[in-house]
Amino acid sequence: MNRRYRKTVIAGNWKMNKTPAEAKALINEIKETIGKVKWCDVIVCVPFVDIPVAVKATKGAKISVGAQNIHFEPKGAYTGEISADMLKELGVKYVIVGHSERRTYHGETNETVNAKLHASIDGGLTPIVCVGETQAQRDMGISKDIIRAQVKTAFYKIPADRARKIIIAYEPVWAIGTGLTATPAEAQEICSEIRAVIRSLYDARIARAVTILYGGSMNPANAAELLAQPDIDGGLIGGASLKAETFVPICVL
Ligand code: PEP
Repeated sequence: MNRRYRKTVIAGNWKMNKTPAEAKALINEIKETIGKVKWCDVIVCVPFVDIPVAVKATKGAKISVGAQNIHFEPKGAYTGEISADMLKELGVKYVIVGHSERRTYHGETNETVNAKLHASIDGGLTPIVCVGETQAQRDMGISKDIIRAQVKTAFYKIPADRARKIIIAYEPVWAIGTGLTATPAEAQEICSEIRAVIRSLYDARIARAVTILYGGSMNPANAAELLAQPDIDGGLIGGASLKAETFVPICVL
């Protein structure tokens, strides 16, 4: 983590959990227990239908609201989809793009992820773009090749002044929701590689400014060691973000 040069973030990804009433209750509980957060921006990425209550409940608290997906077109005949303008108007600041669950279950590709990054930025949202290798790719020893291709395609034609504001989350697919976590050294190695790719695409200044998160079974017990790594600037938290008692301790480390 390097707070001198970049923003540090703890973002909860609630996935398909919490009704609006449950969302309000969880945010209130987080607010009551979180106190003063010193080192990071706190974000909750909630289901679309929870956005209005989440925005209202976080008002006055230092917690921002994010969405979990976005469509790459600004409007049109895309039944069931949500655009950047719609999210922005509700008060959403961040959006997760290319989560592995969307790549696996909803056919998202490196190319659609790139289109969604453009749409988020054009719409005034800060994307949290997810990259990560599967267990099979890891076993084949091609993790870095996969990550390089994902990052390079995601950032295709993203101008430098926009690129520096994008948050990247390294989420090894084999660690998501499994209880398995990359060791701090493994996570650091890949996050450092991601920064090297950004350096090769842009320059050292932009690479130094980009926030890179680790995600994959992060919890209060393993967070400190992961966050102590020089290229890990925060966490994207799934399961542990669903309860204040496991989310708040990570935010106040
Ligand atoms: C995620 O879904 O982004 C995630 C990191 O999940 P978990 O923390 O449950 O592994």
